[in-house]
Amino acid sequence: MQKILDDIAAQMAAETDRGEVADYIPQLAHVDPNQFGIAVATPDGQVYAAGDASTLFSIQSISKVFTLTIALGKLGDALWTHVGREPSGDPFNSITILEYESGRPRNPFINAGAIAVVDAIMMGHEPKEILGEILQFVHFITDDDSIRFDHKVAASEMEHRDRNAALAHFMKAFGHLKHDVDKVLGVYFHQCSIAMSCQQLACAGRFLMSNGVNQHTGVSVINPQRSRRINSLMMMCGHYDGSGEFAYRVGLPGKSGVGGGILTIAPGKGSIAVWSPGLDPVGNSKLGLKALELLVQKTGWSVFSN
Ligand code: GLN
Repeated sequence: MQKILDDIAAQMAAETDRGEVADYIPQLAHVDPNQFGIAVATPDGQVYAAGDASTLFSIQSISKVFTLTIALGKLGDALWTHVGREPSGDPFNSITILEYESGRPRNPFINAGAIAVVDAIMMGHEPKEILGEILQFVHFITDDDSIRFDHKVAASEMEHRDRNAALAHFMKAFGHLKHDVDKVLGVYFHQCSIAMSCQQLACAGRFLMSNGVNQHTGVSVINPQRSRRINSLMMMCGHYDGSGEFAYRVGLPGKSGVGGGILTIAPGKGSIAVWSPGLDPVGNSKLGLKALELLVQKTGWSVFSN
């Protein structure tokens, strides 16, 4: 595994076509695109890494996997009255199908869906309490208390919130959002601002490769059926309108973020985190996707291989 990751990191270092860094969040526009990291946590407790795997980056929409897990733990299947579970085929910040479907978001991974998930887990609590709960959950699944929010990134998103605010107000108009829009957005932007390295992110995904149990700590995070279902949602919806392409090229559940990270789960085999800040036109890490395609070719880990 170490040799595979070293080879992939060397190959990615030589790439010149690295995509575009997200600049609609000004704080992310400063990130150097010439970085690449990869880490794989395996069921025997090992964490393999190569490239810039210990550099912190903004996990952005990857955090939606963690808030979905919290929401399913708190609300169970009642969550699905607030949000659907079908792929959208639309960009992550699109408002169009929201209008067709009366303000109920298609799935928990597009922005509207993730905002609805935050609203559902708030349950009358103040943003501070929910943020504490989200961070505590991330500490619990990673077994690492050093992980923090990046308040500058969250503030930058709050300042440029018009698009997400439009989605939230639209949902509220249809009765799908209960709390104050700015309070919900404040929580949502902070969850997106969590800074993690590939090594930490690979550790965070361990419970999803082992039927909901973090084999490293021996603790059950979520029941096996929910773990399987979260993986299904990642496979179908984790890359927005690039989900079909990701399934075609990689064949594993994955969740991307505009910070350039991707968390990918090979059930029973590994939890993989890749990061390279340059994005493709649909907002997924360009080299991240390429690196995962290589990893799957070299390991045979696609869920469609045997
Ligand atoms: N925080 C980002 C946003 O709301 C998340 C988008 C993403 O990572 N795709 O626009």
